[in-house]
Amino acid sequence: MTNSPFTPGIAAARLDAATLAENFADLHAPLDAHEALVAADRCYFCHDAPCITACPTSIDIPLFIRQIATGTPEAAAKTIFDQNILGGMCARVCPTETLCEQACVREAAEGKPVEIGRLQRYATDTLMEQGIHPFTRAAPTGKRVAVVGAGPAGLACAHRLAMHGHDVTIYDARPKGGGLNEYGIAYYKSVGNFAKAEVDWLLKIGGITMETGKALGRDITLDALSSGFDAVFLGMGLAGVNALRAAGEDRSGVRDAVDFISDLRQSGDLSALPVGRNVVVIGGGMTAIDAAVQSKLLGAESVTILYRRGRDAMPASRYEQDLAASKGVRFIFNAMPVAILGNGAVTGVRVEYTRSEGRSLVGTGETFDIPADQVLKAIGQTLDGAPDGLEITGGKIAVSGSGRTSKAGVWAGGDCAAGGEDLTVTAVAEGRDAAEDIHATLTT
Ligand SMILES: Cc1cc2nc3c(=O)[nH]c(=O)nc-3n(C[C@H](O)[C@H](O)[C@H](O)COP(=O)(O)OP(=O)(O)OC[C@H]3O[C@@H](n4cnc5c(N)ncnc54)[C@H](O)[C@@H]3O)c2cc1C
Ligand code: SF4
Repeated sequence: MTNSPFTPGIAAARLDAATLAENFADLHAPLDAHEALVAADRCYFCHDAPCITACPTSIDIPLFIRQIATGTPEAAAKTIFDQNILGGMCARVCPTETLCEQACVREAAEGKPVEIGRLQRYATDTLMEQGIHPFTRAAPTGKRVAVVGAGPAGLACAHRLAMHGHDVTIYDARPKGGGLNEYGIAYYKSVGNFAKAEVDWLLKIGGITMETGKALGRDITLDALSSGFDAVFLGMGLAGVNALRAAGEDRSGVRDAVDFISDLRQSGDLSALPVGRNVVVIGGGMTAIDAAVQSKLLGAESVTILYRRGRDAMPASRYEQDLAASKGVRFIFNAMPVAILGNGAVTGVRVEYTRSEGRSLVGTGETFDIPADQVLKAIGQTLDGAPDGLEITGGKIAVSGSGRTSKAGVWAGGDCAAGGEDLTVTAVAEGRDAAEDIHATLTT
């Protein structure tokens, strides 16, 4: 180890390899068979279970927990995958504290929900580790569907279409499939190359061809896809980033938080990854939390999240905020950056307090400076490269019903489509539902 958390500037190897390995280990250790039985035993198997309603993919949670309780985790996994083919990843990354576990009756009664997420992981890992793919394809229909984007939405759509007997070609701009599962999710939520293993497992259904390094708008056009295939699904996520609009944004050391996380996830050697001594993260969502926590775990001496509104307005859940605080991340609320300071490289951020005036947010005029040698922007992504001729609403592709766009024969889902929360599980649900609608359209 050559550096330490106190090394000035942006530097690699601030921590030794053993500490880095410990810092980036699984956030929640998997349950073993006995622990899973004990956790499953807490479920009341509610009639009209609120946890099912709270799950965007409507997994039959009491059923799969009962299957675990009766010693058949493989059957439990099938119950999960019937609704959510990326149930393995969702078990790791879903904000269960605001979804199924928040709705669990034991959360309301005792403040301690059934551990649905960890039970889901136990079941899905059990089946996937056996290399079993529990679905087979229907007889070929002779129909061909193009899917743009191999993220959760595109993969869920492709898998459901393949199951129905259609032939699917997925085009993705990046070298690997998985979308943000591969390039965005915090390292400690999905360790051990799980994203790639899950894509490989999903493709075992057959009938899906993956063409990576092919971008819509650069290598292919929507018109060509529409005429070459019977239907098109767009699941291209949000590849663009918002601008900070603060003076000095172009100083070296200022970068997009999603790119930082992507480098981290693709790095084979975390000690080779440079991070600032004093890091400032701007934003209030999951990306801000993930970038801040991972900067701290890489060995930054100080990490501060700047959020322009109050704690309660923060899109990141209280659980995520507490996780960041527990790792030593500092929060400054009701404050916005007005200038990135420095001469070439960033040396600090000038911050102004904010207050609400009606529905808008204004600066109070009171400013202060915080030192920074790295600034990570986590202020939201934007739709980049949507094909011309599609109706756009609120910056996303307008859809009706199960993802129908304004162009006949073209569906969209996941982050790039309007409506729904930008979550992995929501993208899966939208991809799956669009596939069912495409199937119904192609076969009637
Ligand atoms: C840093 C970060 C952390 C997150 N953490 C969580 C979390 O912990 N839990 C959670 O539930 N959600 C999380 N999310 C949100 C979640 O990752 C997304 O909601 C989800 O991945 C959306 O899936 P998608 O398939 O719509 O898009 P994406 O996952 O973005 O996949 C889109 C795919 O389309 C490809 N593509 C883009 N443009 C083109 C083009 N022109 N041509 C061809 N291919 C193209 C991309 O390469 C990509 O593979 C996080 C998001 C970010 C940014
Ligand atoms: S709400 Fe909780 S106790 Fe009831 S079925 Fe769902 S997980 Fe079980």
